[in-house]
Amino acid sequence: MDTIREVTANAQSQSASLPAIAGGRQAKTTPYTRELRYGDDELKELQEALAQGSLFFAHGAKVRQLEAEYAAYAGAAHAIATSSGTATIHAALMAAGVSPGDEVIVPPITDMGSIVPILFQGAIPVFADIEFGSANLDPSSVEKNITDKTRAILVVHLAGIAANMDAIKQIADERKIAIIEDCAQAHGCTYDGVMVGNLGIAGCYSLNEFKHISCGDGGVVVTNDARFAQRCRLSIDKAYTRDFGKARRSPSFLANNYRMTELQAAVARAQLRKLDSIVSRRRVWCGELSQRLSGIRGLHLPEVTPRCDPSWWFYLMRIDPEVLNASADRVTEALRAEGMPVTAHYIGEPIYQYPLFVNHSAFDHADHPFVARQYGKGLCPNAERILDTCIMLSVNEAYSAKDLSETVNAFEKVFNWFASQRRMAVAAT
Ligand SMILES: *Cc1c(COP(=O)(O)O)cnc(C)c1O
Repeated sequence: MDTIREVTANAQSQSASLPAIAGGRQAKTTPYTRELRYGDDELKELQEALAQGSLFFAHGAKVRQLEAEYAAYAGAAHAIATSSGTATIHAALMAAGVSPGDEVIVPPITDMGSIVPILFQGAIPVFADIEFGSANLDPSSVEKNITDKTRAILVVHLAGIAANMDAIKQIADERKIAIIEDCAQAHGCTYDGVMVGNLGIAGCYSLNEFKHISCGDGGVVVTNDARFAQRCRLSIDKAYTRDFGKARRSPSFLANNYRMTELQAAVARAQLRKLDSIVSRRRVWCGELSQRLSGIRGLHLPEVTPRCDPSWWFYLMRIDPEVLNASADRVTEALRAEGMPVTAHYIGEPIYQYPLFVNHSAFDHADHPFVARQYGKGLCPNAERILDTCIMLSVNEAYSAKDLSETVNAFEKVFNWFASQRRMAVAAT
């Protein structure tokens, strides 16, 4: 009897330690916890907005209120609400005086929303390489890419982890180059105890559907410079000046319509009240995850920049293909079989390998100033290596303790299995 029990227990523990792709039981037994993003708070705000009788920002109260509340949240003197994160970056570039032929230094792993506004200003994106640990700009590569045409550095705080701002600021300040922070993925992230967005001339936040908080689409620029704030206001409103809602139509520079409506601001206000809770729950879950995954062979965890308290928009890891004798695709396949919400390669390839850049095909039949630069594979080796080997885990503030332990279990099973398969293959030769 004892032997039968032992044999059964043995078989069970073996099938518990076998990954699902090798016939074991799936690590995830129930779906990841989720909660509804929008509810009664948003509805009440929307009803109030409609009851105003106008959805125009200059006639209603919601956009103005959101701006004051977001400025207070971010600890900045001014906030300007816009129609998208992309629009915030465009507004900040305009306010910083970026003009055709100027160069703007950017990282090659980001959303196109960081890059498109540079091109629309007629300016030239210059791609600097990134660090393996945080996947953020490498200050030494930033420095190497500075020329006498460099007008601004667009720093992206990827996945809610701040870039190495001390080093980047020193490089920029010495040469009086503007820093614009792309905080689209970093609501609530701090550096040296200060909310990101306050470390350069402007911080640009996105409120699109996929960010920490959302109003469908929208954005907020924060700045501590009153003149810069005024230029941002003009830059999102066709360069009209407004006195008590009445427009004076004498634009003195080229500017688009990037205004936020009262409906967007209504939803964003309700969302902002949830942001502290969203960020703190993500910190607990991802902090715990990092602790419990540390030491797994073949897995590189995201490295948090010193003095940064990250806000974890997603969780970006890298695998070591040599240790595992497997590609990121193969490992991702095994993790997905366990029920993990993971994908390989994040944006696929660095931005500079997109056809737009390789072919310089910005416009239909005329050149854009970026023809002055060659783009293509090889520009940023670290970025290319990171995209080849990275695995991205979706994170949500609603994830539970059970979600955490099943996630840890899945990673341990899958990585140990790949490592042991490799050892067996090596032993057999
Ligand atoms: C989402 C995002 C943007 C663009 O924001 P939109 O609101 O979609 O225009 C820009 N930069 C980064 C890093 C982003 O993640």
